[in-house]
Amino acid sequence: MNKQTLITDAVIIDGTAGLAQQNKAILIENGMITAVGSVTDLRSVAEGADIMALPGRYIVPGFINVHEHVLTRRARGSASERAGATRDVHLYRALRNAFGCLAEGFTTIRDAGSMDCLGLDVKKALNDGVFVGPRMQAVSQGLTVTGGYAHQFFKEVDSEVEVRKAVGEMIKRGVDWVKCMASIEWSKAEGEPISAVNISTAFMREAFDIAHHHGKRCMVHAVCKESIINSLDAGVDSVEHGVMLDEIVAERMAKDGVYLVPTISGWCERQNDWGRDAGHVRHANLMRPYHDRSVQIAHSLGVKMAYGSDNFGNLVDEVRALQEAGMTLSDCLILATRNGAELLGINDMVGTIEQGKRADLVVLGSDPLESAEAFGDVHLVFRDGRKIDPNLLPI
Ligand SMILES: [Zn+2]
Repeated sequence: MNKQTLITDAVIIDGTAGLAQQNKAILIENGMITAVGSVTDLRSVAEGADIMALPGRYIVPGFINVHEHVLTRRARGSASERAGATRDVHLYRALRNAFGCLAEGFTTIRDAGSMDCLGLDVKKALNDGVFVGPRMQAVSQGLTVTGGYAHQFFKEVDSEVEVRKAVGEMIKRGVDWVKCMASIEWSKAEGEPISAVNISTAFMREAFDIAHHHGKRCMVHAVCKESIINSLDAGVDSVEHGVMLDEIVAERMAKDGVYLVPTISGWCERQNDWGRDAGHVRHANLMRPYHDRSVQIAHSLGVKMAYGSDNFGNLVDEVRALQEAGMTLSDCLILATRNGAELLGINDMVGTIEQGKRADLVVLGSDPLESAEAFGDVHLVFRDGRKIDPNLLPI
């Protein structure tokens, strides 16, 4: 019989209603949450269980990052330098970043694109348990046009035939999501537009129709308003960044159940020296006010949102930004857990602390319903019931 673990004495915030529950315990067996209930009741059904008392701690569902770049996150250098690293270096980075995700409490991630479909190899290694890390879904490469946005990393397509071929091959290789780069950003010098349309609606519609036909879902990198509208016309499921959306676009997203993944917190980190070109900081400074406003609009009009770090963000800064946009800490917790699980279509398995779900849990040292900083105060992580001490991870 599998050993049972009974976690007691912590405050549980299960992610279903956002309310903290005292005097409850969680019973874990074989990687699953087999019961959540009173300590007295669970002690009687779990005789012989290991008791783990966590007084003064707060337990929340495992965090979910739906816009991770597990191969390139926090990599230095220009786009060509980053894309030009050897395959081995990319994979070492992925290993480090996967441990980093766990250390920050992320038990599930969606990789939003990498070079040469390497994300799919990382996904297989993680989901097969070759090394411990978050469970993972993945785009392989985004679709862009020749010389278009992120062409250093992604697949260039210039006709509907090329779109079909690229998407079909990605589906054969096991993608979960198909991604299009709907907009392109420059902002390197005064007077240049900061965002414009990159790939056409027709190309995106072709890509998304094939993906949906195969039961896959679709996301876009979209900054300018026109690119977001094009993406909605093409049938997208999640809009990444959405920096320049307005009320009309947000109402449509809310009505159609299209998610927004704001990735708002990365702009501050871009002020630091990451070896990017000279326009990088200028660009970040221009984008942030638009992004703050779009999140405010999206929240006020009921657009569903999930958490994404992109290459530079982090959960604590994201929660701070979302609070400034009018969200409560309880909203933020649900955004970073349950909403992510719903977007990924795995809310029957993770996203809340409930009987019958996988035992993906984060043990925090302070109350996430009191402060944004608590989201970064990670003491322990459970991934499928396996206890991980962030301090012992080799990073
Ligand atoms: Zn991204």
